[in-house]
Amino acid sequence: MSQTWEYAPAPESRDIARLRAGYQMFVDGKFVDGSGEPLKSINPATEEVLAEVSTASPSDVDIAVRAARRAYDRTWSKMPGAERAKYLYRIARMVQERARELAVLESLDNGKPIRESRDVDVPLVAAHFFHHAGWADKLPYAGYGPDPKPLGVAGQIIPWNFPLLMAAWKIAPALACGNTVVLKPAETTPLSALVLAEIIQQAELPPGVVNILPGAGDVGAELVNHPLVNKIAFTGSTDVGKLIQRSLAGTGKKLTLELGGKAANVVFDDAPLDQAVEGIVNGVFFNQGHVCCAGSRLLVQESIADELLGKLRSRVSTLRVGDPLDKNTDVGAINSREQLDRIVALSEAGDAEGAERWTSPCPLPDKGFFFAPTVFSNVSQAMRIAREEIFGPVLSVITFRTPDEAVSKANNTPYGLSAGVWTEKGSRILWMAQRMRAGVVWANTFNRFDPTAPFGGYQESGFGREGGRTGLEAYLATGDEGVGSR
Ligand code: NAP
Ligand code: MG
Repeated sequence: MSQTWEYAPAPESRDIARLRAGYQMFVDGKFVDGSGEPLKSINPATEEVLAEVSTASPSDVDIAVRAARRAYDRTWSKMPGAERAKYLYRIARMVQERARELAVLESLDNGKPIRESRDVDVPLVAAHFFHHAGWADKLPYAGYGPDPKPLGVAGQIIPWNFPLLMAAWKIAPALACGNTVVLKPAETTPLSALVLAEIIQQAELPPGVVNILPGAGDVGAELVNHPLVNKIAFTGSTDVGKLIQRSLAGTGKKLTLELGGKAANVVFDDAPLDQAVEGIVNGVFFNQGHVCCAGSRLLVQESIADELLGKLRSRVSTLRVGDPLDKNTDVGAINSREQLDRIVALSEAGDAEGAERWTSPCPLPDKGFFFAPTVFSNVSQAMRIAREEIFGPVLSVITFRTPDEAVSKANNTPYGLSAGVWTEKGSRILWMAQRMRAGVVWANTFNRFDPTAPFGGYQESGFGREGGRTGLEAYLATGDEGVGSR
């Protein structure tokens, strides 16, 4: 006789986040009020206001960029790499010490499950600082010449899906290479970057080396266009990425763009199906599907499509959707009402174009922004749900018969950020990896991140790489400065 045990809620305490009523900008080593209109950051799982956050005006951007330039000229670019490394190690260790606080704060502000912020985001933040601390004194051995030079002031603009992790991806390599930073977090998730600023202050980084300016897109645009900024690193939508590329054309500023994706996760008939199901779930329901490299197109070999879909639906039915602070939660809240509306609209386009919708029967909370995990089958390549980035917990299933057909369908996208392949055959993995136009190809796994592995895209997914030895290039003067350089 089998017995089913019910889950009891196991909520993490929100007090651990040490939430304050107000947060200030971080400029030139100090927390100050900006002269922009303050913004309110909400908890997307409850719609309550978490805190009021001071924002930057154009004159604040100028003050921050000048502070970064001073810090660059006077201290940071002149400091031996071994000394810069000590600061990065210190930040990494302080992130570890405050890991629980950062994880709870991230889940509150972003809506992602505590299981993910605790076990994925925050450990990876520390790992990125550790990894780049290791590079700071070894740059002459990185393959960019015997004495590679930093660029100057890096303007960095990040999205809301991995707020603290994206800040770490941007700040750690910039500092390791000797650049100084002005970073703009996303409007809906500014809090964890401001706590990172506290850590940076406590680590006694020289004032101005890192500046953090909350605000909306106009603050980002101001930063992009500031004449004293030498490099822009942007992660976000393809539309804004194109806008930035246009406005930087001819300025000589170095640019890296990490944009959207519509990754194919390809499952062959010889794949271990139960393992593949876990990988498909992790590929598209991790972080509510708010992942630029999400495996949002499942390409499944026709002979196993029915069996795989059956297994997938029964597994997805067990995902628990709800309170991000509950340690049992698998899928948390959609980050904003705007994003929820977008997911709803694209799913309706799937219905209208004739795809077959299956929705997990999970209960949803009454308040907050939630969307039940959804799988569309009978999807054709022309449908919007097969072409556009949904950025939510929605999977589009397409079938194929031969490996050649799998490759041509996988590559039938304007994006090219990531891909997955599931098969027992090593030779087929290599064959597929050579042919799929994607910056990262995962084999028999998905959504694995590591600071040593370069990450980045082809085509409309952007250019430039972040992470590993290759990622250092984006922050060093390698003679190829100018927009669009790789
Ligand atoms: P977004 O508008 O591109 O936002 C990314 C960052 O750029 C945010 O900090 C944003 O500020 C800022 N920004 C907006 N307009 C700007 C401008 N003209 N100049 C400089 N910076 C600007 O992306 P989103 O609105 O958050 O999301 C929309 C779509 O982008 C998503 O549905 C998804 O398709 C894609 N996306 C991709 C990634 C990724 O990792 N590749 C991440 C997030 C979103 P605000 O926060 O004030 O808007
Ligand atoms: Mg928020």
